[in-house]
Amino acid sequence: VFAAVVQAPEDPILGVTVAYNKDPNPIKLNLGVGAYRTEEGKPLVLNVVRKAEQLLVNDRSRVKEYLPILGLAEFNKLSAKLILGDDSPAIQENRVATAQCLSGTGSLRVGAEFLAKHYHQRTIYIPLPSWGNHLKVFTMAGLSVNAYRYYDPATRGLNIQGLLEDLGAAPSGAIVLLHACAHNPTGVDPAPEQWEQIRQLIRSKALLPFFDCAYQGFASGSLDADALAVRMFVADGGECLIAQSYAKNMGLYGERVGALSIVCKGADVASRVESQLKLVIRPMYSNPPIHGASIAATILKNSDMYNEWKIELKAMADRIISMRKQLYDALSARGTAGDWSHIIKQIGMFTFTGLNSDQVAFMTKEYHIYMTSDGRISMAGLSSKTVPHLADAIHAAVTL
Ligand code: PMP
Repeated sequence: VFAAVVQAPEDPILGVTVAYNKDPNPIKLNLGVGAYRTEEGKPLVLNVVRKAEQLLVNDRSRVKEYLPILGLAEFNKLSAKLILGDDSPAIQENRVATAQCLSGTGSLRVGAEFLAKHYHQRTIYIPLPSWGNHLKVFTMAGLSVNAYRYYDPATRGLNIQGLLEDLGAAPSGAIVLLHACAHNPTGVDPAPEQWEQIRQLIRSKALLPFFDCAYQGFASGSLDADALAVRMFVADGGECLIAQSYAKNMGLYGERVGALSIVCKGADVASRVESQLKLVIRPMYSNPPIHGASIAATILKNSDMYNEWKIELKAMADRIISMRKQLYDALSARGTAGDWSHIIKQIGMFTFTGLNSDQVAFMTKEYHIYMTSDGRISMAGLSSKTVPHLADAIHAAVTL
């Protein structure tokens, strides 16, 4: 009965790793993967995560019962506090409804399903370009997806004029997806004064901001600095949605730890919203898994472990920043044609190199370097040892 099913294409991002795994050449380099790697190219489990897991294992009172539909209550409170700040009035006024969800993707999906059912405007604007899964997640949830201009290829920076024009022309009440920090794939974030312009426009047009926060602490090394944009929007008393992921900042990728928070105007609304979130979640997966959220909660609630996490998080962010500098220096040393300063200006895990798909294909064929065809490279996949190989490849690709 399934004979007519056609072969599906590989996911454009995950497919890069599939191709990489098939390449027998030992010099191969995978810069497509969106996960942190050590200087030795290995995945990293944070020490503080190992410690938290040990505590959980040793606690014989812990059982494997189901969590409630909205997940671990303690984790939800701590997650809202992490993104909104210790002294957030929205939390104190009980205006935030939070659900533990399946990492960032699941939080986006639950938020989108909720909006499709309970919000009057089903149009969402996402930046151009954006993380490839946004279009699919929102479309599958029944929202209609439009794009707003974001990246300017000429400056390899933000097209603030185009952004303001497009959001200015959006229908009243439209949902706007914003990357809270470390925009993926471009690494280009608005400056604080540009965030303020965006906030004023969004509020004046009664648009609804939906923050995707997949890199808090991972961009600058500071959890508070990376939460700046979200906190600006919450400080004005208006509504917003926030999808948080602990994949990158705690390295909990496969544990699928995340949270959706919906900031409302009052406690009564938040409580009704929370009750409806349960109805959205129950038929999708009943309730979320217990282990990863327990690790995150253990770290967030213990001040020693929290401080240890901050140090390890900063070390990851600093290594990525240092890779930017080393790659930039290596291209300068080779006298590679063009301005490469965007490598050190962009923020977060990825650099949007500006290399086109032909140049990417050349680098894969001749240098066994794997990346998405839009020229995005993961800085976390680089090391001091592999920077010269990448710089040689870029140098050759741009002189094709
Ligand atoms: N949003 C953005 C912008 C991302 O880059 C990612 C991870 N690549 C996610 C959401 C979701 O990641 P996860 O579901 O693993 O938390």
